[in-house]
Amino acid sequence: MLKAVTAFGDFFLPRFCSSCNGKLQPAETVVCPACLSKIKFAEDERIRSEFKRKFASNNIITDFISLYVFEKDKELQHIIHSLKYSNRFLTGKFLGSVLSVHLKKVISGWKIDVLIPVPLHQLKKAERGYNQSFYIAKGLGNSLKIPVSERFIRRKKYTQSQTTMTLKERQENIEGAFKAKRKLNLDGKNILLLDDVITTGSTILECGKVLLKAGANKVYAVSVAIAD
Ligand SMILES: [Zn+2]
Repeated sequence: MLKAVTAFGDFFLPRFCSSCNGKLQPAETVVCPACLSKIKFAEDERIRSEFKRKFASNNIITDFISLYVFEKDKELQHIIHSLKYSNRFLTGKFLGSVLSVHLKKVISGWKIDVLIPVPLHQLKKAERGYNQSFYIAKGLGNSLKIPVSERFIRRKKYTQSQTTMTLKERQENIEGAFKAKRKLNLDGKNILLLDDVITTGSTILECGKVLLKAGANKVYAVSVAIAD
């Protein structure tokens, strides 16, 4: 019956794949199976070496995981673009639930109390209208039954796009960008930070620093993808 209703709806209001723009079948949501199958998974070995490179020396992030590898001009970039500029709620929820299917075992082992999307600065949020990572967090949190909260930290520094910066420039640019909100008790809590794409890890490190200072027990990180 539900299938018939979707088919009926598709006839009048066809739905399209966020990546290739092909028409979706009634049973498909957001991304067609062909596009989804082309996205490159981040292998365990890659995750381990990225952890060493980005996080191991700071003692801030206890562990991290990413599902995919971000490749320029490929399917995942189109999907994340659509998350930022159109159809955001469905796309975010879709990505979050894909994460939950593949990463459930690892994340469950971390005993997470709160899932926190990396915050946007108020100005950027006003420009875009929303924080794209919030919708991914919602999809993941709903599936794994972990509460999602945007109330613990805020971004106080408006940072320029970091895409053309070197690692050192990025670190300086993001330093002191986040602040814990007052009166919220993080004591003893295990936090999972979520970002759409992790590149140098400096944003995650800055957030983690603030959360630990505010009393968090452990801070973990998850992202849809890892980028070079
Ligand atoms: Zn497609």
